[in-house]
Amino acid sequence: MKTAFLYGEDLIRRDSRADEIFGPTRLEYTYELLKSYGAFKMPGSVLEPPREAGETDLVSFHTADYVAAVRKLSNGQEAGNPLRFNFSETGDNPVYPGMYELSTLVVGSSLHAAEMVAGGEASTAFNSSGGLHHAAPDHASGFCIFNDVAISIKFLVSRGLRIGYVDVDAHHADGVQNAFYDTDRVLTISLHGSGRYLFPGTGEVEEAGTGAGRGYSVNLPLAPYTDDAIYLWAFDRVVPPLINRFAPDILVTQLGCDTHYLDPLTQFRLTTRGYEEIVRKLKSLELRWVAFGGGGYEPSVVTRCWTLAYGIMMGVDWPDDIPADFREVYGLRTLRDGESRREGGTVERARRFAEEKVSAVRKLIFPLHGLEP
Ligand SMILES: [Zn+2]
Repeated sequence: MKTAFLYGEDLIRRDSRADEIFGPTRLEYTYELLKSYGAFKMPGSVLEPPREAGETDLVSFHTADYVAAVRKLSNGQEAGNPLRFNFSETGDNPVYPGMYELSTLVVGSSLHAAEMVAGGEASTAFNSSGGLHHAAPDHASGFCIFNDVAISIKFLVSRGLRIGYVDVDAHHADGVQNAFYDTDRVLTISLHGSGRYLFPGTGEVEEAGTGAGRGYSVNLPLAPYTDDAIYLWAFDRVVPPLINRFAPDILVTQLGCDTHYLDPLTQFRLTTRGYEEIVRKLKSLELRWVAFGGGGYEPSVVTRCWTLAYGIMMGVDWPDDIPADFREVYGLRTLRDGESRREGGTVERARRFAEEKVSAVRKLIFPLHGLEP
């Protein structure tokens, strides 16, 4: 079975948002580094071009009003007060020319990844431009205009499939959680920085779903200074037991790598080694797999993390030395980080926080699935 990587130059157009924080560089570098390693020439790995989503796809999750406003603002037209849709010049969501086209390309690529996996064309498909998990039905949020994750999962559910969703971005997967809060067809699990410290401020253990969806929204908040060991311990205690029990038809993951210790927006302390281990654990669930990117605000980290992730999806362990052609242009020397940094007492606090939250999740959620807390 094939592993697919979704990418094309249309995704990195230079007229996209001017600030580099969520800019195209990270996507371009990831593609270039994978190419240097020969990822797209290996048997079983295919490079798939991006594709635009149609308006029908967008309104499966977003309001027609919001979709129309994004299109107008993108073309420089009047669309009432942009603040109504959470767009502003100084916030996380500036208006920029062509944002509609770029966003529909991201959604289309995520949908194409979902279709390939659902249709049996690929066992795993990775759209690194996707994973925009904060976007709400009627407004933009946290760098996310259209929620490609919710739209793709809705598409898969409409095909009669049950979906297990795991989100390892440093921020709570609020948009995806809200989209499936009342259904037992989609099990969402989000590990993230506690809302006490980090945007968007939600994702408490008690947000467990409603009605038929009770127990199908799972939140594991973690504290600043959470490192590889704490994160992986907490992950093991929550994710594999629930996903194995739920036994979804397809695994969907958001692989944001803003948990890395060099990330400028968060206070997690993971290394590439911890990140690799997370992705390996997801792979070892042995499910058909639709993977998306997400957060990650230090391009040299994102490039390495997603290159490692795609390698794991392919079943390849890249050598640590960055290939010479990439190294010469971009200056990166090694793929993985060295040893984890030690932070003393702060790590102890993060460990206690994780223990408390893991135990709360297991007490609240596990019995709803017939599992021992
Ligand atoms: Zn994030």
